[in-house]
Amino acid sequence: MSKLLDALTERNLVTYEQIKDARIKQVGAKKSISELLVDMDFVQEEDLARVASDVFGLPVCNLSQEEIDPEAIKKLPFEKVKRYGVFPFRIEDGQLLLAMCDPQDFVALEDISAICGMGTRPVLAKKSDIESHIEKHYLLDDLTYDLIKNMTEDIKIEVVQKDSEKEIFQDEYFIGQKSPIVRLCNLIVSDAVKARASDIHIEPYEKIVEVRYRVDGYLKNIMKIPKRLHPPLAVRIKILTDLDIAETRKPQDGRSSILIEGRKVDLRVSTIPTFHGEKIVIRLLDQKKSRVELDSIGFESQNLEIFKEAINRPQGIILITGPTGSGKTSTLYAALNNIKNETKNIVTIEDPVEYLIQGVNQIQVNPVKNVTFSTGLKSILRQDPNVILVGEIRDKETADIAFRASLTGHLVFSTLHTNNALSTVVRLYDIGLEPYLVGSSVILIVAQRLVRLICKNCKKEYEPGEKENERFGAFIKRHDIKKLYRAEGCEHCNYMGFSGQTAIFEIMQIDAKVKNLISQKASQADLWEVVRQNGLQTLAEAGVQKIIDGLTTIEEIERVCQLSSEQTLTEASNQKKASKVPGSISRELHKQVNKKFRILIVDDEPDIREVLKMRLTVEGYTVLEAEDGSEGVKRTCQEKPDLVIMDIMMPVMNGIEATKKIRDNLEIAATPVVMLTAKATKEDELQGLDAGADDYLSKPFDEDKLLARIRMLLRRR
Ligand SMILES: [Zn+2]
Repeated sequence: MSKLLDALTERNLVTYEQIKDARIKQVGAKKSISELLVDMDFVQEEDLARVASDVFGLPVCNLSQEEIDPEAIKKLPFEKVKRYGVFPFRIEDGQLLLAMCDPQDFVALEDISAICGMGTRPVLAKKSDIESHIEKHYLLDDLTYDLIKNMTEDIKIEVVQKDSEKEIFQDEYFIGQKSPIVRLCNLIVSDAVKARASDIHIEPYEKIVEVRYRVDGYLKNIMKIPKRLHPPLAVRIKILTDLDIAETRKPQDGRSSILIEGRKVDLRVSTIPTFHGEKIVIRLLDQKKSRVELDSIGFESQNLEIFKEAINRPQGIILITGPTGSGKTSTLYAALNNIKNETKNIVTIEDPVEYLIQGVNQIQVNPVKNVTFSTGLKSILRQDPNVILVGEIRDKETADIAFRASLTGHLVFSTLHTNNALSTVVRLYDIGLEPYLVGSSVILIVAQRLVRLICKNCKKEYEPGEKENERFGAFIKRHDIKKLYRAEGCEHCNYMGFSGQTAIFEIMQIDAKVKNLISQKASQADLWEVVRQNGLQTLAEAGVQKIIDGLTTIEEIERVCQLSSEQTLTEASNQKKASKVPGSISRELHKQVNKKFRILIVDDEPDIREVLKMRLTVEGYTVLEAEDGSEGVKRTCQEKPDLVIMDIMMPVMNGIEATKKIRDNLEIAATPVVMLTAKATKEDELQGLDAGADDYLSKPFDEDKLLARIRMLLRRR
């Protein structure tokens, strides 16, 4: 037995029995015996330090007064530091100075000496002092450490409604709410709730981990944390949401409810393995959203009337469209809240059920139990519903059932990932629906986007100046905009200048004439002309009203619906009139219009690039190329192409990751992306669209179809 243990027993501070207990525990604990004696409450750490000081004739050193050399820390990995309960803090005369509780722990000293390839010199220190230094220098960087240390009180997060309590003591430094990782995780989550964030992104890179919040639809960098914190942080988050902590190579999804300081917050977590580790996204679900009202989501009064009239019809299908995060769910829930009453049987099938609505039966898609949109929908129809909400139409089978149901006395709501009302019709044809079925069932198509509201607290009025006129001159003139508003940012809005969001809508009413055109699969140009005559307002035009009302900025509308696109659209339609081409736009005109567009092809196969390039060049486009996703993102940033064609399977960075990178970079986020999927599986499609692709085609692709899609997307630019 060591001198120190002898001295402790001699002074009756510990018993032999206790030392024996500690030794048994030591087998699995990977800790020194003296540390364990303190941990097991057999001896106070002050007593241990005092006795050790007596026995070895060494003073107890106060680490916070010592100069800490980062080179010394680099000498010893975290596992060893933790294993032996030591803290290397300086190198002197070729020896590594180690703060430890038991300077005669020869096993530790020898092992460490072998690892570092240098001599060691033990220095006596208190256990808590050593631990806090390990925490500060190994687990957290100074900034994160201070951040957590400065929290006046620890934020407590408890998990409620979890199916099973999993064994969470995977790593000893996790135990209890006091561990730095637990505190860091709690801080990130509670701060996000405070900032009204809808999502938390935790993204590992080569050397650091970036934590970002999405507030009002806008991603904001919050903090960078050291890379070494990523694995334990990921494990902590997985524990909170009941995910498999051992699985890091497959995507996972989970959800749970937690209590932050007594306030209930629902979380949905998804993890995706990336090259530098698992990317984690935590969605914070706000229960208030389940009670959202129709008049509060941004409809102008005329549109509200049109929408209300449609949702009160007994049958037909209403489609809400837009990319992920465009507020479709809120609109649908507001519609259901508006029409629900005791006489109506309302059933939904959703993936996932985000919010629970009182008085509505909600079914969760669950492929494992064979509940898909189509099977779920079939079961629902046997239960005599009046109103059905199908979370999303992704395939022909679901589309068929939904559209037929809407012809037989059911009001059906659903969503599609399309950019505007007109392209929704095209998508429905592409899915494989008969044009007559589309024409006879659809009663309303609503495309929407969310725009940020100017902070009321720091809002200022101004007249459009040179800068605005240069960028938006034509737009300002056309819509006769006299005054603009902006906000500088204040404490109230977190210095963002924006607070809260509202939706803008493009509503396509389906009257008899439009029904006919859709049923006959008329050209888009013809359809466009009629819906415009009927008073369809584009998203950009809807944005104008919000600008005039002083609710949002012109830049925000530009970000969301690319005002320059509107110009192109009008120009194209004027050109069409001028050239008097009946039906569709002639090929020559295409070439002329196409000339100014540059398309970036991102594909690792030179043959595919070559074939595409030839075809696109013939059509008049300028073609850029990139060999993999990472180069693709780079070229998109540098050259700002008008559209990107993206392969999925590529070395270095795949197409999904690259598309996300494009979407997450505000500068290029609006670039349309057409994804080429290797196989036409639902997962591929879905993954692509969720990553933010505007459209997808499966290989081998039909060139004419691809060109049509490209034209469609570019028309919006
Ligand atoms: Zn403000």
